[in-house]
Amino acid sequence: MTAVPVVLSDGPTRPAGLREMPTDGPLVDRFGRVHDDLRISVTDRCNLRCTYCMPETGMQFLPRSELLSLDEVVRVARVARSLGVTSVRLTGGEPLLRRGLVGLVGRLSALGFSDLALTTNGMLLAGQADGLAAAGLRRINISCDSLRPDRFPAIRRRGDLATVLAAMDAAEEVGLTPVKVNVVLVRGQNEDEILDFAAFARSTDRIVRFIEFMPLDADGRWDRSQLVSGSEVVGRISAQWPLVPVGPDGPAPAERFRFADGRGEIGLVSSVTRPFCGTCNRLRLTADGAVRNCLFAHHERGVRDLLRSGGTDAELAAELRAAVWDKRPGHGINEPGFLRPARSMSMIGG
Ligand code: SAM
Repeated sequence: MTAVPVVLSDGPTRPAGLREMPTDGPLVDRFGRVHDDLRISVTDRCNLRCTYCMPETGMQFLPRSELLSLDEVVRVARVARSLGVTSVRLTGGEPLLRRGLVGLVGRLSALGFSDLALTTNGMLLAGQADGLAAAGLRRINISCDSLRPDRFPAIRRRGDLATVLAAMDAAEEVGLTPVKVNVVLVRGQNEDEILDFAAFARSTDRIVRFIEFMPLDADGRWDRSQLVSGSEVVGRISAQWPLVPVGPDGPAPAERFRFADGRGEIGLVSSVTRPFCGTCNRLRLTADGAVRNCLFAHHERGVRDLLRSGGTDAELAAELRAAVWDKRPGHGINEPGFLRPARSMSMIGG
């Protein structure tokens, strides 16, 4: 393998890249980024219809026969583990809608991932938190875009705030701490709650993560004017409560800040204005068995047919390697000619 200098368009200059796809060692792309984090979508269905994610009506869901079975998911995860993946996050759609999720967590836990996490809207968590924690779940992110009971259904179109707050309590009771709270900010919708969420982070041990609205809504209505940038969030919060940056704890996308007076932490996921593609270590498995190397990828590699036609683990590993190898240097949102991917967020797995 010959090292060549590479400049990534959406990230820092990396010292070296690779000319040939390795056939052993960790999952690496041609820019030298090692991939050890797998996001697994277990369903494209959801019990909410958040405005920034899904249409109010008419969402087409996959037929069940097209979903990977839990055995198939475990097999892909096992092969990924053998290729150096150490971290798995289950998502969707709404992962808690998937039957057998607790059993899946147990089987993934037995594969020895050092991190096993879940992203959920929390509506169904209270009854499952105990089982998930006992099965080996380590961390949880709960989405909650408003702390106002009357506004919550306007954003999420279904569900209610009280249930989501109870889900956070339930997660804490079973030791899934610290709970991270995902807040997607959309201008005109909830940016007037930035300080309320900061106060929430200060008065609880929950880490509030402000996520920039990305062009992945199924309605295709995203535009830059709706974006609330991470720098605006920090500016508004620090004018009230000074913030101190906290160093990254790995290649996680969130920029972390703690309050200078020691009360609480927030994170910024500034995917649009401060892309972290240069250190991206993620690959994704969709609910229908496509391996994607980026939320914004236009190409994906389906492995479901391979799984169902007697393909070997070596062939599966080769597909994972090729998917990672093909990764573009950056997501390209800020480049002229950017085109949204064909799939929206809930169909990929956020
Ligand atoms: N149903 C679960 C939930 O609500 O957390 C998991 C799936 S959801 C697609 C995962 C995350 O993606 C959530 O935090 C959600 O808020 C976020 N998300 C969805 N659409 C988004 C968009 N267009 N831009 C930014 N984040 C988005």
